[in-house]
Amino acid sequence: VSSWAHVEMGPPDAILGITEAFKRDADPRKMNLGAGAYRTDAGKPYVLSAVRRAEAALLAQGLDKEYQAITGVGAFTRAAAELAYAGAAGDLGRVAVTQTISGTGALRVGGEFLRRFHGGGERTVYVPAPTWGNHAAVFRDCGLKVGQYRYFDAQTNGLALGAMLEDLRALPRGSIVLLHACAHNPTGVDPTAAQWAEIQQAVEAGEHVAFFDMAYQGFASGDADRDAGALRAFVAAGRAPVVLAQSFAKNMGLYGERVGTFSVVGADAQERARIESQLKIIVRPMYSNPPVHGARLAAEVLTNPELRAEWLGEVKGMADRIIAMRAALRARLEDAGSARPWQHITDQIGMFCYTGLTPEQVDRLARDFHVYLTRDGRVSIAGITSGNVQYLAESIHSVTK
Ligand code: PLP
Repeated sequence: VSSWAHVEMGPPDAILGITEAFKRDADPRKMNLGAGAYRTDAGKPYVLSAVRRAEAALLAQGLDKEYQAITGVGAFTRAAAELAYAGAAGDLGRVAVTQTISGTGALRVGGEFLRRFHGGGERTVYVPAPTWGNHAAVFRDCGLKVGQYRYFDAQTNGLALGAMLEDLRALPRGSIVLLHACAHNPTGVDPTAAQWAEIQQAVEAGEHVAFFDMAYQGFASGDADRDAGALRAFVAAGRAPVVLAQSFAKNMGLYGERVGTFSVVGADAQERARIESQLKIIVRPMYSNPPVHGARLAAEVLTNPELRAEWLGEVKGMADRIIAMRAALRARLEDAGSARPWQHITDQIGMFCYTGLTPEQVDRLARDFHVYLTRDGRVSIAGITSGNVQYLAESIHSVTK
């Protein structure tokens, strides 16, 4: 008998399960609205022109494949921190940064750092309800406990600000609060600047650590500075400790290249050096040092002024297409005669829309209309095109009548 006979079959990943069902469906009208990856208006994956050009430039340089430092490609981590913080943390000399295996790896390294060094007794990370499906698993695997604060109001399909503040104020002093910097996944609901100010005050009053997860900088509004506004406000105020997980998967389309950073805003350069030494000690036994190619690409895009300008234009183009598809979907639903309120589709922001569809309605969409999304009613807007938005609106109208 095998040594592994006791290993039970685990449940499939929710998103991958949808992709499988989508692939099996032979209907030409089928739509995959599950995966959180950008698609062009022709429904195709998109490699940014700035990235292609950076790739050509790197190839021409004939670089070697030597190991980088444990903290990765220095030109990349500097430029990435600059993009995130701009001037909010001063000259960045006090910010400890390490390259990570995209945003997921950043959360994992960050979770490890907090488990080891966060002073609070109760090492619990509080995440919004709902949140990205991987957060709880990542933090639990770091040995942290995971709690929740209320975030989404199912009545309005908007922010439950009052409940959120109530929960943040009730947390044990010195908790860890995970905040989506922008383009909240899965709801698409972001606080306004005024709401952020109240959230910031609650986090500061509780002496909590603000753990920002920024997987969509530039993707929400089309403006990378604006999308980093909440993060920078916390850092500039300097009252709450701030750590950041940053991903370039979506905003540079580098998904499979796995490009990200984890950073900690320290008090001064000396503290930064101590923190960085510990980040190295965390990373070394996990994967020694990160892959170089994607980080070099991102560094080239961020530091070459021409490529950077082109990239910012392309990010805005992606954000604008998503915003246009939100408007089109809402308009077609209203034109189709749907009596339900759909304003939240255009109020929400970023790659995802929390439609308010029930699990049963989602099942019917798949069965009768070949439209696939997660059972929480989350639609990846990037999967909608001007060619299929009418069909989607009719399908959603049919199941919500
Ligand atoms: N955080 C959030 C909120 C996300 O939505 C994602 C990706 O979907 C990630 C982190 C991490 O993604 P990646 O590891 O591909 O950078």
